[in-house]
Amino acid sequence: MNSLWDRCLERIKDEISPQAYERWFSTSRQTSSTDSTLTVQVPDRFFAETIRNRYWGILGDVVRLEGGEGVSLQIEFPEGSAHRNGAAPDPGHVLLPTPPPAPAPRKPDFLNPKYTFDTFVIGASNQLAHACSLQVAGEPGSRLNPLFIYGGVGLGKTHLLHAISHGLLERRPNARVYYTSAENFINELIGSLQRNHMPEFRSKFRKIDALLVDDIQFIAGKERTQEEFFFTFNALYEAGKQIIITSDRVPKDTPGLEERLRARFVWGMMVDVGTPDFETKVAILQKKSAEQNFNLPTEVAHFVADKVRSNIRELEGCLIKLIFHASLHGTDIDLPIAEELLKQIIREPSRVTTIENIQRVVSEHYQVRVSDLKSKNRSQAFTLPRQVAMFLSRNLTPASTTEIGRRFGGKDHSTVIHSTRKIQDLVDKDSAFSATVQRLSERVDLLQQ
Ligand code: ADP
Ligand code: MG
Repeated sequence: MNSLWDRCLERIKDEISPQAYERWFSTSRQTSSTDSTLTVQVPDRFFAETIRNRYWGILGDVVRLEGGEGVSLQIEFPEGSAHRNGAAPDPGHVLLPTPPPAPAPRKPDFLNPKYTFDTFVIGASNQLAHACSLQVAGEPGSRLNPLFIYGGVGLGKTHLLHAISHGLLERRPNARVYYTSAENFINELIGSLQRNHMPEFRSKFRKIDALLVDDIQFIAGKERTQEEFFFTFNALYEAGKQIIITSDRVPKDTPGLEERLRARFVWGMMVDVGTPDFETKVAILQKKSAEQNFNLPTEVAHFVADKVRSNIRELEGCLIKLIFHASLHGTDIDLPIAEELLKQIIREPSRVTTIENIQRVVSEHYQVRVSDLKSKNRSQAFTLPRQVAMFLSRNLTPASTTEIGRRFGGKDHSTVIHSTRKIQDLVDKDSAFSATVQRLSERVDLLQQ
């Protein structure tokens, strides 16, 4: 086993130039390591001070990452080692102070806080995928590597990926967990190619502790992306880092996917998510209703679970619609109302409300441009429509506030929360305004056709 300091050195190597590494770190060695202190010896005071002055930030991160939060680093040098400028030998060994604690890590905002293991309902269709996901979140890089999760649209793959990321970060808040969609990976790669930043691109991906790539099927047919992904995959795999991939189908049925990637994807564990059975659908509806304090009558739950056949996103779409109706009208939902509200969705199950459509409808209604909804312009003519569109996005789609903020020109999630509250207040107070919002939501529905 490598010593703690050896593992830290590996990471430092990635962070600084080879020359600097050779000069300042190649002569260092671990003298002791306890639960609370890692002690490292360097040749003399000059080394110790240079390392402290130049590399303390990196060292703090690296030691925390490898050793955990509680470990502090001390640097010492041998008694009597001569001072650089010929001064008298130092009297004894000196311990340098510990790097200051890092600020509490923030949850990366690309993760949906609602997609956790706690909110995931387990049924026959996803039991194995769930068990494997729990396993890799608890013990990354062990047996199930890579973990390949496949299945149709809206069946919980992205939810599981986020849940794994949350799990990994709970276990090790400083772990470098990198979640990306394959599309995003492609875009980043193209950007780096254009700016001649390929070395940075590569080194960034190779420093990751866990890589989660959503919807890998999109890299099929893209040769350069596949090549880079292949190298990244190998580097991480060989370093024992966990890789988790989702796809809408198995590798062998993915045309345009390179053979060497295909072969690697099946090295670890392949597991599918299927369509949920009736009972699982009911359980999901009930869980999601409870999360939002919504009273869903059993007969309505059964009706929806029975009618929505294909996927969970649609199931959720129906529920969102019921909840919105109830909140707008201040009524409970019974079976006839549910049947009426959901008849279109049920007839044409692919119609899920999108933020784009909401933006279109709202911009037409208020006679502003979609770009105005996304702008930072605070003039009254734009703020109300913008807030209404955010309100509808929050109520008619499953998107998180972070996601909504992003789709409105990169606003903060707190802005979305504030806007939503404001419009909710207006809806509650002003019945004419409430009717307008209702009409807008109906228009959005029509647009989905
Ligand atoms: P996919 O990535 O497979 O297309 P998602 O993970 O985006 O599907 O799931 C679609 C929606 O259904 C999400 O809102 C997700 O929270 C929900 N969902 C899927 N499976 C479950 C489940 N087992 N329990 C609770 N919610 C689920
Ligand atoms: Mg997905």
